[in-house]
Amino acid sequence: MEWKINKGSKSCITCNKEFYEEEEYYSSLYDENSAFVRKDYCTSCWNCNAKETSFSFWKTKLTKRDKPIQKFINVGLLLDMFVKLEGKNEPHQRNLRYVLALYLIRKKIFKLKSWKKQENEEFIILYYPKEDREFSVFDPRLKEDEIESLTKEMNQLINNPFMEYETTGNVN
Ligand SMILES: [Zn+2]
Repeated sequence: MEWKINKGSKSCITCNKEFYEEEEYYSSLYDENSAFVRKDYCTSCWNCNAKETSFSFWKTKLTKRDKPIQKFINVGLLLDMFVKLEGKNEPHQRNLRYVLALYLIRKKIFKLKSWKKQENEEFIILYYPKEDREFSVFDPRLKEDEIESLTKEMNQLINNPFMEYETTGNVN
């Protein structure tokens, strides 16, 4: 297990204040002890210090109870994580980057261009049409079911039935 999922925390992790309907708050990922941990903060705790050590974050809010839950794919967030993981060598970081790459290929953000082998390591080469650039991604040789479960965990980590994303600046 490489991601710790604090699912559906509806209160601030620092001050324990419960979020009210439509309150905006921050969800943030931290790279801690070989795992990515998600934490949710109210705006004031976020501004105090939580921001500093964040790996990636997004602004979100509690939806109204009677409103249907909408799920967005926060492509901006996924790209941000992908780019920040470039050159990172811990297994959990490499695995996440690879799974993010596959996910973004599936969502047609990246195109799979080719493969390359270098000093016994394999890489996939991606093309990102929007910025006309290429990325090389270490292939950790995960098994099909490992990819599946990591993708599922990633989705759970980022998604939450009570949450709606800010979509500013993102595709989708
Ligand atoms: Zn707080």
